[in-house]
Amino acid sequence: MKKILICLSAFLIGQEKYDVDWETVAKIREEGFQRSEISNTLSYMTDVLGARLTNSEDMRRAQDWAVKEMKRIGLTNIEIEPFMDYGYSWDNQYFSIHMIEPDYQTMVGYPIAHTPGINGRQKLTVVRTQIKTKADLEKYRGKLRGKAILATPPPKIDQERYRNGTPRYTDEQLKEISEKPFPKAPRGPRPPVNPDLVSSEERNTFFKNEGVSVILESKSGWIAAVRGFARPGAKKDKWDRKGTVEHLPIVAITPEHYNRMIRIVDRDIQVKIEVEIKTKIGKNRRKARNVLGEIVGSDKKDEIVMLGAHFDTWHASPNASDNTSGVAVMLEAMRILKAVNIQPRRTIRIALWSGEEQGLHGSREYVNKHFGNPNDPEVGQKDGYENFSAYFNQDYGPGQYRGIYLQDNEHVRKAFTSWMKPFDDLGMTTIGSQSVGSTDHIPFDRAGLPAFQFLQDRVGGTGGHTNLDFYDTIPIEDIKKNAVIVASFIYHTAMLDEPLPRKLKLNVNRRIK
Ligand SMILES: [Zn+2]
Repeated sequence: MKKILICLSAFLIGQEKYDVDWETVAKIREEGFQRSEISNTLSYMTDVLGARLTNSEDMRRAQDWAVKEMKRIGLTNIEIEPFMDYGYSWDNQYFSIHMIEPDYQTMVGYPIAHTPGINGRQKLTVVRTQIKTKADLEKYRGKLRGKAILATPPPKIDQERYRNGTPRYTDEQLKEISEKPFPKAPRGPRPPVNPDLVSSEERNTFFKNEGVSVILESKSGWIAAVRGFARPGAKKDKWDRKGTVEHLPIVAITPEHYNRMIRIVDRDIQVKIEVEIKTKIGKNRRKARNVLGEIVGSDKKDEIVMLGAHFDTWHASPNASDNTSGVAVMLEAMRILKAVNIQPRRTIRIALWSGEEQGLHGSREYVNKHFGNPNDPEVGQKDGYENFSAYFNQDYGPGQYRGIYLQDNEHVRKAFTSWMKPFDDLGMTTIGSQSVGSTDHIPFDRAGLPAFQFLQDRVGGTGGHTNLDFYDTIPIEDIKKNAVIVASFIYHTAMLDEPLPRKLKLNVNRRIK
């Protein structure tokens, strides 16, 4: 009898630690599937608010909306928290481009961020340049004044990508992910740069000195899609006004339209375009901002569980997939938790970051300020470090969660395996032990704090950072599921007796610098 009791209690203790609260999960599922508000949130953000370039006027307007939305949901301690000098705001106010010779055609493109406008509506002759090395520059000296320049090589359209679409993960692929136990080997040193090559900054300075009117480029190779970011040097001069005003306007053009111009010019037939660009540059340097809100905990309210996604986008579309879908999921998860009236032990905090697209700035500055980083002597460990439990992020498009990556933290395998159980029927079944990167969980991870990305099907959206990323391509059922799953993970993390376990040793190779 005694033996049985010992066995039974050991069994119960083992069970209890990461047990599923099925009653709460049922409430979360009911709220999230029967009374979902996520399509409305996503539509408002993509249709009404639109693109949200970090530190732009558009972004400020959207952040003010986020504050109101958090209030509506019922969150407390809502705050807009400024971080780092982010230079001058930049917004595109108007843009048009047409080919007017040898044939009329409207063209698809947009000015890249932190480049200036153009004086009025200008008719310009198009010239192709092919510049790789410093010697190539001489071929064009004195020949480019007042011209529009085709500056990049013709992109090759990636037809395969569209022929096949993007399928969901197959069982075999998921199995493969779950069977990779070893961390990735660190990257080797970069090969030395050929000193004769011209950087895009040097090339643009040459164009400027030669009196060029506008630079045209096309780099994506995706059918119908334009991709273009900020002018080279914008990050280095911290989005400076002078740097922007004195630069040439750069316009990114869809590959089909760009290549049409190249082919005509290569026949020695004149191409003329008409172009107009109006941009608005802020008057003062200012800080970028993150938006935060909370559900305050009870007996462990000083301990923090976080969820978040980056609120900033590139500027050519509302970026429905990257990362408006992630923001909508996290807001909906918080709404669900409030709607089912959970009483978490730890405080649950949502963060809508900015500056992610320029280098994870918002999340890194936030971690440094509130938790610190024992890996970085300049930052050091802050008071909040020990009270932090875990951070969950979404930024791999709008596809549904199929599992979660442990981020090389084997100590959370048991918790996550248990918490995935209630979502077996949704296909949430796979643990990947490996670390994944490139988004806002990384600053937490580098500081030794548990931070995770879910394993997502690569469906929906038209690829990040394009002019095509709108509401219509988002699989709404997928993000409904994600909001329910992350709400449940957050709830269970907030209710544990102990914080979620950390890796035993900080990986010194992953120091932030
Ligand atoms: Zn993203």
